[in-house]
Amino acid sequence: MSERRVVVVGAGHAGFHTAFFLRKRGWAGGIVLIDTVVGVPYQRPPLSKEFLWGKQELEDGIFRPESFYEDERIELISGFEVTSIDRPTKTVTIEGHSDVHYDHLVLATGSVARKLSLPGGDLEGVFNLATAADATALRAAIATAKNVVVIGGGFIGLESAAMAAAAGKSVVVFEAADRLMARAISRPMSEYFEGVHRGGGIDLRFSTGVRAVEGVDGRVSAVVGSDGVRIDADLVVVGIGADANESLAAASGLATDRGIIVDEFLRTTDPSISAIGDCARFPLLPSTSEIPELVRLESVQNATDQARFVAHQLADDATDSYRAVPWFWTEQFGRKLQIAGLATGSTRSEVDAAGSDSFSVRNYDGDTVLVTESVNAPRDHMRARKELGARLTKESASS
Ligand SMILES: Cc1cc2nc3c(=O)[nH]c(=O)nc-3n(C[C@H](O)[C@H](O)[C@H](O)COP(=O)(O)OP(=O)(O)OC[C@H]3O[C@@H](n4cnc5c(N)ncnc54)[C@H](O)[C@@H]3O)c2cc1C
Repeated sequence: MSERRVVVVGAGHAGFHTAFFLRKRGWAGGIVLIDTVVGVPYQRPPLSKEFLWGKQELEDGIFRPESFYEDERIELISGFEVTSIDRPTKTVTIEGHSDVHYDHLVLATGSVARKLSLPGGDLEGVFNLATAADATALRAAIATAKNVVVIGGGFIGLESAAMAAAAGKSVVVFEAADRLMARAISRPMSEYFEGVHRGGGIDLRFSTGVRAVEGVDGRVSAVVGSDGVRIDADLVVVGIGADANESLAAASGLATDRGIIVDEFLRTTDPSISAIGDCARFPLLPSTSEIPELVRLESVQNATDQARFVAHQLADDATDSYRAVPWFWTEQFGRKLQIAGLATGSTRSEVDAAGSDSFSVRNYDGDTVLVTESVNAPRDHMRARKELGARLTKESASS
């Protein structure tokens, strides 16, 4: 009998770690890892941090060198796109490559950065920041730019804005909400970062969308805000979020709805196919409601923990359901913000050591801390994760 084979589509954080943890847990069968990106798989977070700042090169951000894949018997098919899944025969079709059979398929196709769908959104000098190619082009462009406009005051937009401002560029940030990183952090923490960015010389414009991007000879020259104000720009960074990369799953008849729908075992509507990482929408456990809320998270923690879970299930025939403490981080102007928990449902915030550059905000629902945000306070962050982890174990035991 031929050996059982796990095929993983996507070799980002989730896909790479599935292969890695499968071997770690003693999976003796075949592992095939496929990605459209040419070369060895790499990490995304340094692209908007160390790499953009010129403190790191792309090769410093790879997960493992090429030899690792050979040593661990992981067949890496890089530079090829999986274009369809034939579920009855358990086969994936790869453009320009022979088909591959799977016993279990893991979809780790990530997310796709939203483009600016406005006239001028595709002018030269307008950048997204999602891949190594984007980061390389953006780093080179920032070096010669004078006036930078960042559209979107979320993590990636602000990391880019901080870098450009520190490099002496004039930087304007357009944010549609009335505060920074509004979807991810509490108001007191937004206000702290507002001060940091203004102190770094950045012009922040809240409640302001973009009406148009203007250009001369095919190159961006200005951005016009929803308030009609025109800002000169020779470089624009678009950081307006990302959507789940679910098209392959949807075309194969798997359930999707702003993400590939999975159950508490991270299985799609086909039990031979799992979906993990940025592309998956999964039930948040433990839950007090009969039908747990489905969430999609874009973070290294989520991708890695889900990869570990799926590897554990496959290698050990495990039957437990997925639950993990969500955590995130970002770094802007030398401030490392670490977030433990999810920012939904909190009704009040308490700030520890307000006024200093090393403090935490705890966000409560009643007496329960739901999320702790820490700036340059790694001990607070680790304590918060430990507390949330202990609660997870306790609630799991009683559910
Ligand atoms: C610039 C940047 C900075 C970030 N900073 C942070 C941070 O500070 N902290 C944090 O927690 N998170 C951060 N993130 C988010 C984090 O990197 C993602 O959540 C994580 O990479 C998700 O892993 P993933 O494997 O699900 O998706 P990805 O890492 O995006 O990988 C998906 C892979 O699938 C491949 N693929 C898709 N479709 C196919 C197909 N049909 N065939 C073959 N291959 C396919 C893609 O080429 C891609 O390589 C950042 C992301 C970016 C872009």
